Amino acid sequence: MADILLQGGRVIDPARDFDANADVLLQGGKVARVGSGIAVPAGAKVIDVKGLWVVPGLIDMHTHLREPGQEYKENIETGTAAAAAGGFTAVCAMPNTRPPNDNRAVTELIVRRAREVGAVRVYPIGCITQGQKGETLSEMGELQEAGCVAVSDDGRGVMNSEVMRRALEYARGLGLPVIQHAEDTALSSGGPAHEGAVTTRIGLRGQPAAAESAMVARDIELVALTGAAYHVAHVSCAETVRLVRDAKARGLPVTCEVTPHHLMLTDEACAGYDTSTRVNPPLRSDRDVAAVREALSDGTIDAVATDHAPHSPVEKDVEFEQAAPGLIGLETALALCLELVETKVLSPTVLITRMSTAPARILHLSGGTLAPGSPADVTVIDPKAAWICEPNRLRSRSRNTPFGGRSMRGRAMLTIVEGNIAFAQEKFVG
Ligand SMILES: [Zn+2]
Repeated sequence: MADILLQGGRVIDPARDFDANADVLLQGGKVARVGSGIAVPAGAKVIDVKGLWVVPGLIDMHTHLREPGQEYKENIETGTAAAAAGGFTAVCAMPNTRPPNDNRAVTELIVRRAREVGAVRVYPIGCITQGQKGETLSEMGELQEAGCVAVSDDGRGVMNSEVMRRALEYARGLGLPVIQHAEDTALSSGGPAHEGAVTTRIGLRGQPAAAESAMVARDIELVALTGAAYHVAHVSCAETVRLVRDAKARGLPVTCEVTPHHLMLTDEACAGYDTSTRVNPPLRSDRDVAAVREALSDGTIDAVATDHAPHSPVEKDVEFEQAAPGLIGLETALALCLELVETKVLSPTVLITRMSTAPARILHLSGGTLAPGSPADVTVIDPKAAWICEPNRLRSRSRNTPFGGRSMRGRAMLTIVEGNIAFAQEKFVG
């Protein structure tokens, strides 16, 4: 691979409190130098990035790549291509594949396929329980050895408190974070939308916010009991934010993430029965959206994660109640979050912290910084680029997005993984 010199960009590296115009030199798959007026090494590729941001590669903690088992929705090749186009240099692959990633063989398959066809790094997440049934713990040590960076039964919550306690104890011994899809399924009862004024008006069954927050409240007590690192996936409501804020004030090792769609859409988006707005947890009220935005700004919410969940028309061209939950997010996340920078909810530094530095820290991944010696995982962003989200032009194999037709501002121009160009916007790099 040739050396790359990124010249004259605005370098934002929250891990080092750095935000200034500088050159970045990538050599041998690592960040070699960051500074002004770096001389061009012989044979280096020079890329003019004036007016653009140069940031540590974005990391998505929550991606569904659908391989193995549901490759008609997405596979590791298409999913990582979508990730690279969205500015992500790494994604964490959730374990609810077919079969689920609850044993070494599945983890090894994902790692191997990612090496063969992946455009970006793929970090598998293993199951908490065998078959995600919530009964018997998976062999977490084996999963970790094979490459899993965390465990989760994402798609469902661990309902049995005793099983969750044992999971936290086991994971703590291994230093593995436990990621909870917090949903008390008895309480949510399959409700396809948020229980509130909108569901009453349009006649859909709702699930209350308490279906999420009640499980988080229980889990926080189990974290206090076990001391395990615990991370709440896709926080959607004000009550969960309050609980996490309290847990952090108690000094407990609790972190959490929010999705771009829970930051940008309310339950009003479901009023037209558009099945691409059927997500789990459901889109919530104005009050909840205000709470998660505030929490993302003040650090109560550590990270933005996409919950990229591809589905085909088979699962989505049906009645709202029957539609599979989820939307694709890898290629729209950055632009949606840049709207929060434009409206001063987040500073650029806080945005990059939430999309890169914090995910690396929570999951103990390399990357998340441009410190010399770090892997050369870099995203170059044009924060002003105007574009329209056209679902047919996205790289994901699926099209289930409610953001089709939306005018976007800001996008990844260049995504570099270990010193290699994984994605470049047309005409940007010759
Ligand atoms: Zn989930």
